[in-house]
Amino acid sequence: MFYDLHMHSCLSPCAEDEMTPNNICNMAMLKELDLIAVTDHNSCRQLPAVDKVASALGLRLLYGAELESSEEVHVLGLFPKLEQTYPLQEWIDAHMPGIPNDESYFGKQEIMNEMDEIIGTEKNLLIVSLSATLEECVDAIHRFGGRAVLAHVLDRANSVTQQLGFIPMDLPYDGLEIKSADQKQRVLDTHPWIHEEDTHWFIDSDAHHLIDISEAVNEMSEAVFEELWGKSL
Ligand SMILES: [Zn+2]
Ligand SMILES: [Zn+2]
Repeated sequence: MFYDLHMHSCLSPCAEDEMTPNNICNMAMLKELDLIAVTDHNSCRQLPAVDKVASALGLRLLYGAELESSEEVHVLGLFPKLEQTYPLQEWIDAHMPGIPNDESYFGKQEIMNEMDEIIGTEKNLLIVSLSATLEECVDAIHRFGGRAVLAHVLDRANSVTQQLGFIPMDLPYDGLEIKSADQKQRVLDTHPWIHEEDTHWFIDSDAHHLIDISEAVNEMSEAVFEELWGKSL
């Protein structure tokens, strides 16, 4: 199945207002994706609306968030059930620094319903580091039943290699996100303890604009999906 497991809705201040639940899901359908995940910065609050829209369209969904650890590393938490993100949201709330968002500077943080009507605004700035280490973020994702994918691992900003210098050998992550197939070799060349075959590699868009959502080019087998997230409904 064709997937894109990293994109931001209009709840993320850095994403465009056009990234509404309906626009995201309809664009994914137009691009003939089979499976998506919406992964806002440090929040799961757009997911109930995305869930309703995706299920009405018959689009498969993983329920996600992009956490930022205290080391400023981005890690995706991807869950097979919406309900699993409720305790994660409580955990996030308990680890947020509580800095108010300045809309005019960072952008709006809007929460919508399944009709793309604004039903709320997140008051605290979402693009912040949580008071939890990368290891604690991975542990929380696992505790609530999700899979942890280290985001854009070779990026200059907020990647594990930029912030820590390397991908730690003993960190129990479930997958690595790269931007292109050639980045895989760069990761392998610099990390002799990472083996191509025992690693789940993901290529996602990290879309903040509708147009940037992936085309149907990156594929995941049903077997890999089941290994990571169990049998789907
Ligand atoms: Zn990121
Ligand atoms: Zn992102």
